[in-house]
Amino acid sequence: MITLKEALRKSNEELAALRAELEEKAKASGLNAYVGYESSGEGVPILVKDNIQVKEWPVTAASKILQGYIAPYEATAIKNLKSKGMMAFGRANMDEFAMGSTTESSFYGPTKNPHGTDRVPGGSSGGSAAAVAGGIAIAALGSDTGGSIRQPAAYCGVVGMKPTYGRVSRFGLGAYASSLDQIGPIAQNVEDAAILYDAIKGHDDKDSTSADFEIEDIANNLDTEVKLTIAVIDEHVAQADEDIQKAFAETVARLEDAGHTIVHKEMSNTKYDIATYYILATAEAATNLARYDGVRYGRRAEAKNTEELFYNTRSEGFGEEVKRRILLGNFVLSSGYYDAYYVKAQKVRHLIRDEYNRIFEEADLILSPVAPSVAPKIGSIHDPLEMYKSDMYTLGVNLAGLPGISLPVAKNDEGMPIGLQLIAKAFDEKILFNGAASME
Ligand code: GLN
Repeated sequence: MITLKEALRKSNEELAALRAELEEKAKASGLNAYVGYESSGEGVPILVKDNIQVKEWPVTAASKILQGYIAPYEATAIKNLKSKGMMAFGRANMDEFAMGSTTESSFYGPTKNPHGTDRVPGGSSGGSAAAVAGGIAIAALGSDTGGSIRQPAAYCGVVGMKPTYGRVSRFGLGAYASSLDQIGPIAQNVEDAAILYDAIKGHDDKDSTSADFEIEDIANNLDTEVKLTIAVIDEHVAQADEDIQKAFAETVARLEDAGHTIVHKEMSNTKYDIATYYILATAEAATNLARYDGVRYGRRAEAKNTEELFYNTRSEGFGEEVKRRILLGNFVLSSGYYDAYYVKAQKVRHLIRDEYNRIFEEADLILSPVAPSVAPKIGSIHDPLEMYKSDMYTLGVNLAGLPGISLPVAKNDEGMPIGLQLIAKAFDEKILFNGAASME
């Protein structure tokens, strides 16, 4: 597949032919990575996760409840990329409302991993990652609330990057957990990820949490020769499967050979990441998803009165995982439990962030696994807690608002990709991308 950098040099006629080719190949692939083939603008086609609004496109967040909804306005990330020679093309499959780690909770059915079609592509941006890995998208946008860009990128053997919270506007992104959500690139290599990140980033008045300072473009000045101090948290790494640990050790040796300095650090709060995240994310989700009532958006169920309208629309429209999270979120926010769960989790979140910041006083980057295993088989995870546990390496980055990038480093004996992530200080995307480029 042509890279994003190469595609940006093509003529509009060549790109139109490429789009037609992509559509044909995607339909024939059987991966179920696209849920639509809409197209908007002119330029290099970028696949868009189905929770990012492109004006006049359907946007459904892979949910039944949003069937029939048409986006009345454009996400800022889309507006930005259109001003940089790119266009929005196709909607990527995902977990319903970005809740999940496998893309199995989609209303459109599961996406398949191109490296083993009986495997999940990861989630929730599974369609975006599978499409890039399967040669049916040049690059794609995903969203990452607790790992949803980095983990599917790792499972599919491509590059996925989550920007610092506030670096990319959330305007036009379907809200899951607003204090954690970020849009970011999934691409074939680090340079392409940097090109797409450069294009979408920047201050936006329409997002009150958008950082109001600009930082330089990165893709044109990538420095693959940098020598950095990279922290590893041995105890944390030791919790991953053996094949992941082996790939990790090999990568550390490679980084040392390349002249980077590895420092061994401890983090005591990582064990709280899962509990903290699933309290805060579900609380925010319960609040954000209260708006889907059959009156304002998408699908409306049959009903005799207003109460029944809300009840039926939500009962029929939401899938099982989304309902579980709405219940959990309302529980942790309810009086009597609010202090014990929600307020406590907010405090722990600060401790988690402080601990990362302490590490960054002595290191430029942290190297970590992305997931404790390679992509599991489709249909193999039955216990939701088991799925939540597989997010153990990605959630902390969102809780602390940091940027992270997932890179393919190896394959296991079965040919399944293994990805590792680099994590940087907030707004240190330049060092993050340089470190990643030096690892390729
Ligand atoms: N797997 C995590 C969850 O289900 C993260 C999802 C995401 O980043 N959108 O919440």
